[in-house]
Amino acid sequence: MSIELTQDHVFQTYARQGRPFVKGEGCKLYDDQGKIYTDFLAGIAVCNLGHCHPDITAAISAQAGTLVHVSNLFYTMPQAELARALTEKSFADRIFFANSGAEANEAAIKLARRFFQAKGETDRFKIVTMQQSFHGRTMATLSATGQDKIKKGFYPLLDGFVHVPFNDIEALKAALDDTVCAVMMEPVQGEGGVIPSDPKYIKAVRQLCTDTGTLLIFDEIQTGMGRCGTLFAHESYGVTPDIMTLAKALANGVPIGAMLATEEAASGFEMGSHGSTFGGTPLATAAALEVVRLISEDGFLASVCEKSAYFLAQLNGLKEKHKKVVDVRGKGLLIGMELDVSKGKTASEYMAECFKKGFIINAIQDKILRFAPPLIIGTAEINQLVAVLDNLLAGEDH
Ligand SMILES: *Cc1c(COP(=O)(O)O)cnc(C)c1O
Repeated sequence: MSIELTQDHVFQTYARQGRPFVKGEGCKLYDDQGKIYTDFLAGIAVCNLGHCHPDITAAISAQAGTLVHVSNLFYTMPQAELARALTEKSFADRIFFANSGAEANEAAIKLARRFFQAKGETDRFKIVTMQQSFHGRTMATLSATGQDKIKKGFYPLLDGFVHVPFNDIEALKAALDDTVCAVMMEPVQGEGGVIPSDPKYIKAVRQLCTDTGTLLIFDEIQTGMGRCGTLFAHESYGVTPDIMTLAKALANGVPIGAMLATEEAASGFEMGSHGSTFGGTPLATAAALEVVRLISEDGFLASVCEKSAYFLAQLNGLKEKHKKVVDVRGKGLLIGMELDVSKGKTASEYMAECFKKGFIINAIQDKILRFAPPLIIGTAEINQLVAVLDNLLAGEDH
C-alpha cells in the first residue's frame, strides 16, 4: 500500500529500495513482512546511536509531553543546555540552531559574507569550496557543492563560489585572494566518495586561512557526532575551524541543524541578522542533548575507534583477496570501499545483493560502497556483512 501511494503521490526524486520499514531497534530494521535487516547506513549517518535508543526515546517522549515549540522569541532550557554542552565540547563560543544540514550551511555562508560586509569589506564575498564536495540542495548550498551532476537544470546559481581540487594545497593557495571571505570543506568528503583530508593538507588549509584572515568553515554534518571516532572529525587532525556546521546525527533522527562559531566569527551576525521559526525547538534540542550525553560516556568514542580498526582490517582483507576491490578508506565508522566496475557488477548491484541478504549499505557514483553503521554496531554484525561481501566478490574472481 505505502509503495503505491508513495509512487503515485510523492515526487519521484529518490530511487527507493525494498518493502516499507515499520520498526527499528538498535542496528536492526524490520520491514512490513517481518524481514529483519542489519543497518550499515543508519539513515545516511543519522541514527548514530542506533534506531529508537531507549534513552533518546525517553527524552523525546518526556519533552513531547512538556513543551514542543515556542519559537526563538523566547527562552527554553533544552536549547540553552544543548548550546552549553556543544560549546563546552568544541572550539565554538556560539551556536545558531536550524533544522537541517543545508540550513546550517546557509547560515554559515551568510555569516561568512556578513562578517566582512559588516566591516565594510563589501568585495570580500567569495567562498572557496572543494571539487566533489557536498553541502546541500538549497540554492546557496548547491552553489557551494562541487558536483556538476546535481546542479544541472538549476542555473543560474548563486554567485561567488569557487571550487578547487580537494587535498591540493597549491590550488587553494592560488584561489585565495582579497575577494575570498571563507574556505568551506568537509574534513572527510562523504557524498563525494568517502575521501578523508590528508592530515598535512588540512593543517596547511588552517594555516593559510589564518595567514590571509579568511574564515575556515568545516561542514561536519556527516562527519560529526562521533561518526569519525572523535566527537568532531577535525579533532583528530589537531585543527579547529572558525565556523562548523552540524546536522544529521545531532539528534539521532529528529530534524535539527546547527552552526557553531568562535566569538570573533559570530560577531558577523547581530540582532535580526538571521532567523528560523523552528530552529532549536525544545523537542529537537532535548533529543540532541541526550545524544551528546550518550556519545560523551566513558569509552564510547574509544569503542568506535576499535570497531573502525576492526572493520577496516576486515575490508582490507577483502582487498587483498579480491582484485575487484581497488581501495578501502575512511575514518571512524565512515568507510568507503571502491570497486573496479570496468567489468562485472556495479556498486549499486552490490548494494542490491546485500539488501536481498538483509544488509543495508549504500553505493556512491556506482563504484564506491559506503558503510556508515550505527556506532553501536557489533563485531559479529561486521563479520556477517564481510562474509556476504566476500561471497559476492568471490563470484567475480577469475
Ligand atoms: C547531508 C549533508 C548535507 C545536507 O544536509 P541536509 O540535512 O540533507 O540538508 C550537507 N553537507 C554534508 C557534508 C552532508 O553530508
